[in-house]
Amino acid sequence: MTDTAAGTSGGTELPSLAGGSPTPLTEAHDVALLDLDGVVYVGPDAVPGVPEALQGVRHAGMRLGFVTNNAARTPEDVAAHLTELGVEATAADVITSSQAAATVVADLLGPGARILAVGGPGVATAARAAGLVVVERAEDEPDAVVQGYGREVGWAQLAEAVVAVRNGARHVATNADATIPSPRGPLPGNGAMVGVVSAVTGRPPLITGKPDPAMHAECVRRTGAQRPLVVGDRLDTDIEGARRAGAASLLVLSGVTDAATLLAAVPQHRPDHLSPDAAGLLTVHPPVVGDGAGWRCGDWVVRPAEADALLLVHEPRQSDQAAPADDGLDGLRALCVAHWARHPDDGSDAQVLGDGRPARDALREWGLGNG
Ligand SMILES: [Mg+2]
Repeated sequence: MTDTAAGTSGGTELPSLAGGSPTPLTEAHDVALLDLDGVVYVGPDAVPGVPEALQGVRHAGMRLGFVTNNAARTPEDVAAHLTELGVEATAADVITSSQAAATVVADLLGPGARILAVGGPGVATAARAAGLVVVERAEDEPDAVVQGYGREVGWAQLAEAVVAVRNGARHVATNADATIPSPRGPLPGNGAMVGVVSAVTGRPPLITGKPDPAMHAECVRRTGAQRPLVVGDRLDTDIEGARRAGAASLLVLSGVTDAATLLAAVPQHRPDHLSPDAAGLLTVHPPVVGDGAGWRCGDWVVRPAEADALLLVHEPRQSDQAAPADDGLDGLRALCVAHWARHPDDGSDAQVLGDGRPARDALREWGLGNG
């Protein structure tokens, strides 16, 4: 196994994604650390096919842990939701960013510290479980404000948080995701609400969820994972968190990340593997191979074009070797590797052109270039 954190710097290392996986990811790794929103479900509903795929993943011998930056619900509630969707889980299989925040605050301020909890019930429940005392108002002189996602968070709670922080409470955010995925597209996430408080107080919050590696590390500890694989839909939390925890990563496109965002990723946001959804755990992943003039993945080739642009071409191989089934993303894998090879140390928007109908159709499907 050499795919962990491949290509973290420039030099002669191959870019992320180039190595692929010659065996299914279920064989190459022992535990999948799955993000939830945008990976297992979007809103209340499962990502189509994913519960069945995760049953297959378990059948193949891989264990599952669930690591969510969503602080609103308790691990018990999350496990019940997962089980209802067909993914059996217990509270011990789930780690929430509320638990991470409570642990950090208890370490920082000592058990018995008073906190003002802003967010869904998960925030206060985790705080009490960690021995913290939950108060309701700034006048109760909290030592910290712990802020996590909650649909019912409104002006009154944000105002209470602002007063408490101005009076000296430490502002702790369970996570800084600006958005959450929904069937209607991205909606305000905890990061956006945390931004309201910090914009008024002028004080940056302490952020305890992903990409801080504490949650992944806790999940590795609980499961005894030897070769963990982080599965997520966000670059700045799941993928960066995987790298900081020293784990390999699989980006799925069932959540908030689109092709243009992926191509523009800075080095620490570049995943090791890519698939349409978490069913990609069950498959092999093709390598992206350089041939001097360009990069090939499966039946797709990417060559340099004018200026900084890249040209995508569908060019089936003349080989009689059985090729792994194309999941529709081989061309995008080749584009990523070609673009990242040009930009080993920084993120940059990619300019992409398609040569021929199949290439333009593919680009249109990914919302890129002249498709
Ligand atoms: Mg997510």
